[in-house]
Amino acid sequence: MTNNQSPIISVSHLTKRFGELVVLRDISFEVHRGEVISLIGPSGTGKSTLLRALNMLEPPTSGEICVKGEVITAHGYPLDMLRRRVGMVFQSFNLFEHMTVLENITEVPVHLLHIPETQAKEEALALLKQVGLAQKADVYPSALSGGQKQRVAIARALAMHPEVILFDEPTSALDPTMVGEVLSVIRQLAKTGLTMLIVTHEMRFARDVSTRVFFMNEGIIYEDGTPEQIFEHPVHSATKAFVNRIQKLVFEIDSDDFDFLQIPTGINQFCLKYNLSQADNAYALAKEMLFTHMRSFRPLTLRMTHAELSGVTALDFMVEGQKDSPLNDAARESLRPQVKDLFEEPTKRGFRVKLIL
Ligand code: ADP
Ligand code: MG
Repeated sequence: MTNNQSPIISVSHLTKRFGELVVLRDISFEVHRGEVISLIGPSGTGKSTLLRALNMLEPPTSGEICVKGEVITAHGYPLDMLRRRVGMVFQSFNLFEHMTVLENITEVPVHLLHIPETQAKEEALALLKQVGLAQKADVYPSALSGGQKQRVAIARALAMHPEVILFDEPTSALDPTMVGEVLSVIRQLAKTGLTMLIVTHEMRFARDVSTRVFFMNEGIIYEDGTPEQIFEHPVHSATKAFVNRIQKLVFEIDSDDFDFLQIPTGINQFCLKYNLSQADNAYALAKEMLFTHMRSFRPLTLRMTHAELSGVTALDFMVEGQKDSPLNDAARESLRPQVKDLFEEPTKRGFRVKLIL
């Protein structure tokens, strides 16, 4: 067996408590070189704590962590050495605001690792090019967008030549329009064979980029598998429910006294949050349905749904006590060209028209 096959990280019986609260419960796993592992799961289940334990920002209560065969949880293990090997990218970038982009990247290599300044600069420039920011070397972080800041933070982590990079929700603090640029830099890194652990809420990204996925729940790794296993054939019902979760926006329209302005505002926010481009179309359709085809149907429940994994977005119009479709032929003819699909279906309590956007 060659050295390549021994794990880069090996965690055994890791437990973390904050006072009475048990956050990580007897977790064991190994990470091999080149693996890209996404950690998904509900919030509060210990994903950040686990990442922080891996570079000893949060020392475990018990258990052992080895990096390249060395026990980093051992008393007195040099943490600066560890953090060179295990880089971290945070949700909130953590750049030095009083330093230029270039200085942010060269600071630690020059002052702590004693790499000659010209060499560190050259490398930093190459890294900036890699993350698409060659033009920004001399500006201060305040002049950058969130997406650009996060790309600088990634370049800064890479400048340490880490064995592993840990990403803790790298896109959660970003405006939705900037999520893509950061994810695409991470996708590129995955192709270079860099070992990465990524906590993310971006299900499709996790499915596409990972070699392995951990579903964390209640302080344990509930399910560990390939993206295909976790997303297409999860074993546990909790995993299944989480990966197939559907985001919803609901309006209960009792009468024409309803504050209809809530609808465009709500739809816009929903589309921003889930990075959907259909806001205008969705609102136009909602308006047409509410004021033309279903004008006389009140109360009515309007629901916008988005299934993150499949990417399907829909508008549902539900009327209780209604047995037949509220749509006539003219309505269908008007709607069909504007939607991917249209369903008219009786429900237990009434009737639903579903428009797939
Ligand atoms: P996740 O990243 O999955 O959302 P976290 O690891 O941030 O979860 O947190 C797991 C639990 O640990 C939460 O209940 C959180 O409140 C608690 N927790 C995290 N850090 C601390 C801390 N420093 N002190 C006390 N409780 C903490
Ligand atoms: Mg977290």
